[in-house]
Amino acid sequence: SAVEEGTYLTQFANVDIVHRRDELRAQKILQDRAFKNEKVDFVWDTVVEGIEGDGTKVTGVAVKNIKTGEESVHAADGVFVYVGILPQTDAFVDLNITDEEGWILTNDYMETTVPGIFAVGDVRKKSLRQITTAVGDGAEAGNRAFTYVEAWNEENETK
Ligand SMILES: Cc1cc2nc3c(=O)[nH]c(=O)nc-3n(C[C@H](O)[C@H](O)[C@H](O)COP(=O)(O)OP(=O)(O)OC[C@H]3O[C@@H](n4cnc5c(N)ncnc54)[C@H](O)[C@@H]3O)c2cc1C
Repeated sequence: SAVEEGTYLTQFANVDIVHRRDELRAQKILQDRAFKNEKVDFVWDTVVEGIEGDGTKVTGVAVKNIKTGEESVHAADGVFVYVGILPQTDAFVDLNITDEEGWILTNDYMETTVPGIFAVGDVRKKSLRQITTAVGDGAEAGNRAFTYVEAWNEENETK
């Protein structure tokens, strides 16, 4: 996330990417693009400890090198946080509908393995997490949920 967004931000500013390791996990094409970009610098083996400001704007980022323990303040006019995403699905773990990383597994109709429970949007395991795909998921799930409720009603009315 940081490499992609950092490269994008070079249209407007010089960018320092603070990274806690000494190498990237980003796709190779994104890495090559960032390494070639003169407006991108990497601050390796480092974590952000705090954001400093003068009360009206950001003036710097307090960082710590995790290998040497050295602490310093990196001058900056702005901070963008791009650390990837983690699904907030702890509440559903007991239903056994999540994978090992916490993404909810569904079929093409957004159904989980628990009848009547659907999942849509970013919490789903899928390749592209964007507004358009979230909305598409919602349309599919809504349609399927309608069919599910109709079938449930028919079954229970005949009992
Ligand atoms: C920085 C950033 C930039 C992005 N830029 C773009 C872009 O340019 N174009 C694009 O298409 N996509 C973009 N995306 C992705 C896009 O925002 C998501 O794919 C989309 O919002 C997913 O929709 P969603 O409804 O699944 O989740 P969300 O929009 O995250 O909505 C989930 C909602 O659930 C609520 N919620 C969470 N837990 C609970 C709970 N326990 N109880 C009740 N409510 C809860 C949250 O508060 C939130 O309102 C961007 C994402 C980020 C983070």
